[in-house]
Amino acid sequence: MDKITLTTPIRYLKRVGPVMSEKLKRLNLETAEDLIYYFPFRHEDYSLISPIAQIREGETVTAIGRIIKIENNYLRSSKQKTIQKAILKDNTGIIEIIWFNQTYLSRTFSEPKLVSVSGKVKRQGRKLQFISPNFEIIGPEEEIDSQKPEEKLTGTGRLVPIYPVTFGVSNNYLRRVISQALPNLIEEVEEFLPEKIIKEERLIGQKEAVNQIHFPENKAYLAKARKRLAFDELFLLQLNFLLNKRRWEKRQPAPKMKNKPGILKKLISSLPFELTNCQKRAIKEITEDLNRPVAMNRLLQGDVGSGKTIVAAAVILVAAKNGYQSVLMVPTEILAQQHYQNLKTLLTPLGISVKLITGSNKKEVKDSKEIWQLIVGTHALLHRRRDFRRIGLVIIDEQHRFGVSQRSILIEKSNLPDKDRFSPHILTMTATPIPRTITLTVYGDLDVSSLDQMPPGRKPVKTYLVPGKKRKDCYQWIKKQIKTGQSQAFIICPLVEDSETLESVKSATEEYRKLKKEVFSAEKIGLIHGRMKSKEKEAVLAKMKNGETEILVATPVVEVGIDIAGANIMIIEAANRFGLAQLHQLRGRVGRGKKQAYCFLFAGKTGLKAKKRLRAMEENKNGLKLAEIDLKIRGPGEIYGTQQHGFPEFKIASYTDLALIRSARFHASQVLEKSPTLALYPKIKQKLNRSPGKIVAPN
Ligand code: ADP
Ligand code: MG
Repeated sequence: MDKITLTTPIRYLKRVGPVMSEKLKRLNLETAEDLIYYFPFRHEDYSLISPIAQIREGETVTAIGRIIKIENNYLRSSKQKTIQKAILKDNTGIIEIIWFNQTYLSRTFSEPKLVSVSGKVKRQGRKLQFISPNFEIIGPEEEIDSQKPEEKLTGTGRLVPIYPVTFGVSNNYLRRVISQALPNLIEEVEEFLPEKIIKEERLIGQKEAVNQIHFPENKAYLAKARKRLAFDELFLLQLNFLLNKRRWEKRQPAPKMKNKPGILKKLISSLPFELTNCQKRAIKEITEDLNRPVAMNRLLQGDVGSGKTIVAAAVILVAAKNGYQSVLMVPTEILAQQHYQNLKTLLTPLGISVKLITGSNKKEVKDSKEIWQLIVGTHALLHRRRDFRRIGLVIIDEQHRFGVSQRSILIEKSNLPDKDRFSPHILTMTATPIPRTITLTVYGDLDVSSLDQMPPGRKPVKTYLVPGKKRKDCYQWIKKQIKTGQSQAFIICPLVEDSETLESVKSATEEYRKLKKEVFSAEKIGLIHGRMKSKEKEAVLAKMKNGETEILVATPVVEVGIDIAGANIMIIEAANRFGLAQLHQLRGRVGRGKKQAYCFLFAGKTGLKAKKRLRAMEENKNGLKLAEIDLKIRGPGEIYGTQQHGFPEFKIASYTDLALIRSARFHASQVLEKSPTLALYPKIKQKLNRSPGKIVAPN
């Protein structure tokens, strides 16, 4: 075989061959390079090497010595299972080792061999024991003191790498193959980052990092290797985003819309309040985007009640005054209705025509010749290309609910009816607080405007995690509040799944019946869920709005966008099933009026981790802060379902390391500023194109 290089197929490596290479393929390992870039996700610390006489109970430790005796026995409990008992001896003492079902070991140690054994030491009667420890044979000849045996160790006596493995590929095996291949291959690993970035970020070199991530000399080196490789992942990801963004802007000519002085004046002076500073800033950022001949791709985020609608109204107005139609797409009919009403109130006096399209009013307006300046609707919109004329602006509310495909359909359709082909500007709005680290890593090709300040005069919702035994008291307290005629309550049923399933409808219906019969028989109680017809839902909400209904039992998915000023109490059942950002969003449904609002969280029996999360709800009233806490406690997988949302899979980098994400972004944009096509940075370009890690840019 020729010299092994990074591109050598993995089967030619020592200890691999055709059979193992098939198995390694399951881990996406095909070349030598793939292998050395297959990073351990953690390390076990077996670096404490101790003379046997000094080993103590409970220690995680390594002993080096000779197996002087080994015997094979059947386990008393089961004739199929065997136990191997061995004695390890060094020149200070002996210790017992137990393995299970490894009968071959008696042959391995038929003559004494020098071994290194790592694991946790337990006490058995008066003896100390290693139970199923890692071990490595160092060799039959070497003398204990004549050299440093730990230099050859891969699975014991050091920081031991733990790899993600699959059936038929063990960690022991991977360690051996990698440690064998690494010394030669590492010479070929090239630095791809410019010296300047390495210096400024105090990174170690690529070679050293790849070497140390597998078999680190010590913890400090491991930390440095992790930082360097995390930076690489984030840097390449950011480069991808920024390149995508540039490509998008090049490809997507869009109508340039002027925000002539005076356009917004009328709207703003018609409002009974002053815009908050962040609303003003958001309007400015968005209208500046509209004024460029490339399609905007911006996310507007802000807590429930932060006032996104008025920002949308302002930019719709700018589009309309420039002769372009706007489309506002929302996930539910209730929300569509509400937006339609609100925007009509705001915009009709300014001469803007507004139309509602939902699934249920499909037939009402037939083939109208009229041109609407704003169309509000659900995804039913997607089938109504006849109504589309010169779409210049697409606004998507609660965008996380829409699939990527629906978005692109809408965007493509906007092109169809027009002779002059352009892409609309796109604004997505969300009340789901997204931590900065996530907007930077997942929505990295979007621009973001944040309404991080609430309109004045809002009282934070008082929130309590209620222990099960206080449930009755809580109900009694609510009854009392409702009797005053000044309070209304929501009772949110457990989250069954992410969408409105029959299951969740059933659980809400049952809860409603139970409460009506057993608890709130004197109160006027209603039920709403997503499987109701939209007319029914409207009727239920109308009753809640005018106070006819005092308590409304609801499934969690109905939550988005309900705007009922009189509601100031909320119970959330099985609150532990929700993410903090979700709970915060739900809670934002109450306290829209002047009265103090309350939110009671029921969680049943939960673990400490869940309690800690829910306590954060009591203390924090800021959605973004809560989302960050949740991200730290639960991680992105559990919160966002990372795969379906196109989260990049990091091998090393973390979604919580804002500082590193920021500096990766900074350096990526600097590099592109200097050399938009990366022509000046051929090594970065090469790395980007054949990066062995999977970097998936969303959308
Ligand atoms: P969301 O961001 O949840 O969509 P909305 O746009 O529905 O919030 O606004 C919530 C409420 O706050 C509405 O009744 C709206 O009229 C009001 N509002 C919006 N901006 C302000 C402001 N600057 N001052 C006072 N009230 C405001
Ligand atoms: Mg809204």
